[in-house]
Amino acid sequence: MSKLGCRCGHVITDQTDSLPYKASLLRDEVDNEFWDEVHRELKPLVESAESGDKAAIADALGQFSPSLSAADKLQDRISSLYIQRMSTAYECQNCRRLWVQKQNSEKFVSYVPEEGTYGAILAAASGESENLD
Ligand SMILES: [Zn+2]
Repeated sequence: MSKLGCRCGHVITDQTDSLPYKASLLRDEVDNEFWDEVHRELKPLVESAESGDKAAIADALGQFSPSLSAADKLQDRISSLYIQRMSTAYECQNCRRLWVQKQNSEKFVSYVPEEGTYGAILAAASGESENLD
């Protein structure tokens, strides 16, 4: 996704990392499945590393391309597992509408906040105090 046209007319752009109006969403129904897969990826490596057997480590990583380092291969595998499971959410910086990607789809559904201006609700540090009336 590089651009999403909001209903208010604002164009939400996604062309760089660390966007304060973007978040990844891991649905609870696939959360356990994701962590089980991560565990399955890590377990043979941890066991090989504990044994100190370099051949076993190579075997554990044997399914990957030989051109990448073991750390890069592992990162690629886990990133791939995550990307398969996660969806994206955006907050429109103009109207504060929240856009949530549908599971296994490129489509987004919007949700309108009850009130207020842009709240940076998806930012790591919103700077806004909680307003839970
Ligand atoms: Zn908008």
